[in-house]
Amino acid sequence: MAGSINTPTPPVGVGQPLWLLAELTYRCPLHCVFCYNPVQLKQASSELTTADWVEVMRQARQLGAAQLGFSGGEPLVRDDLEELVQEAHRLGYYTNLITSGVGLTPARAQRLKDAGLDHVQLSFQDSTRELNDFLSHTKTFELKKKVAQTIKAHDWPMVMNCVLHRHNLPHVGQIIEMALDLGAEYLELANVQYYGWAWVNRDHLMPTRAQLQEAEAVVQGWREHIGKQCRLLFVVPDYFEERPKACMNGWGSVFLSIAPDGLAMPCHNARDLPGLQLPNVREQPIADIWQRSQAFNAYRGQDWMQEPCRSCDERYKDFGGCRCQAFMVTGDAAATDPVCSKSPQHEKIVEFVRRAPERRQSIPIVHRSDPQPCARA
Ligand code: SF4
Ligand code: SF4
Repeated sequence: MAGSINTPTPPVGVGQPLWLLAELTYRCPLHCVFCYNPVQLKQASSELTTADWVEVMRQARQLGAAQLGFSGGEPLVRDDLEELVQEAHRLGYYTNLITSGVGLTPARAQRLKDAGLDHVQLSFQDSTRELNDFLSHTKTFELKKKVAQTIKAHDWPMVMNCVLHRHNLPHVGQIIEMALDLGAEYLELANVQYYGWAWVNRDHLMPTRAQLQEAEAVVQGWREHIGKQCRLLFVVPDYFEERPKACMNGWGSVFLSIAPDGLAMPCHNARDLPGLQLPNVREQPIADIWQRSQAFNAYRGQDWMQEPCRSCDERYKDFGGCRCQAFMVTGDAAATDPVCSKSPQHEKIVEFVRRAPERRQSIPIVHRSDPQPCARA
């Protein structure tokens, strides 16, 4: 693993990474139809070692990162997770485990608590066993409920996450009831974003505008009813918006993602963008990657923008949207995010939404396939 370099002064205009996302592994016992991991998992060959991750955390902390998410795949499949959490805690990070729950036994939870883990985010696929288990292609619903109790028993804030789409939007009220029954303090209802396996299955996952409006009204009703008992976050899908999301709060602005094989990316989906020379933490120090690499500078600031973004007043607010979405829909990673109604290619998004019901008649829904076994380096 490459060590730190002696470059304490970053280039002008480059801030600090605040968020470090450690994607410890792409291995996962679940097979979600909307999984955000790369579809071509064969490309993610060997995983970083424990020592590599410790060095990543140390260097990123030195650069200013303060929040650390342990993610995957399923991070609990790594048997060194406790060791990594302990080191992260010692370095002063606020740590978050993003998990399907599989593997979070009471004994393991206690070890992670002792190691200093601050926060656990547990995902559910639905409020019904049938749909939860169908969407993940596993029998995990009852297990997740037990894990929710384990999380409460260890005094972590109970944060639940449920990805929303055509199949479970009508259940949003029951999902909220389930979260309340399980004692959740936060419930993130994140409408699916079309990357990875969700992009493959977009016609099957695409809701109608009426479904979204009904679900949002239900969420608002519950908000008024429960007050501060549980905070409900409803993340609107940008395919139904007129403006794109401020993706990653701007490329290379605050977010640093490290993939299981050591690739460093400004966004965990950036692996497939053409023309990016993605650096690897095994070969380059993180300060160098963050400040000077071609990949982290490719869409930083505004110089890369084309019209209409280049002269748009809103470019300071949304940074031109998402580069991955621009590439997937238009074939040009530097194009205006086509979600934006000012984009000359916005009609493609409208068309995706309009044609989804007809297109899904002739294509099957696909579950995430098992990743290739990843050898530990
Ligand atoms: S989305 Fe599902 S399959 Fe993908 S990593 Fe998360 S739990 Fe595993
Ligand atoms: S044109 Fe570009 S900067 Fe302007 S609102 Fe659309 S995406 Fe944002």
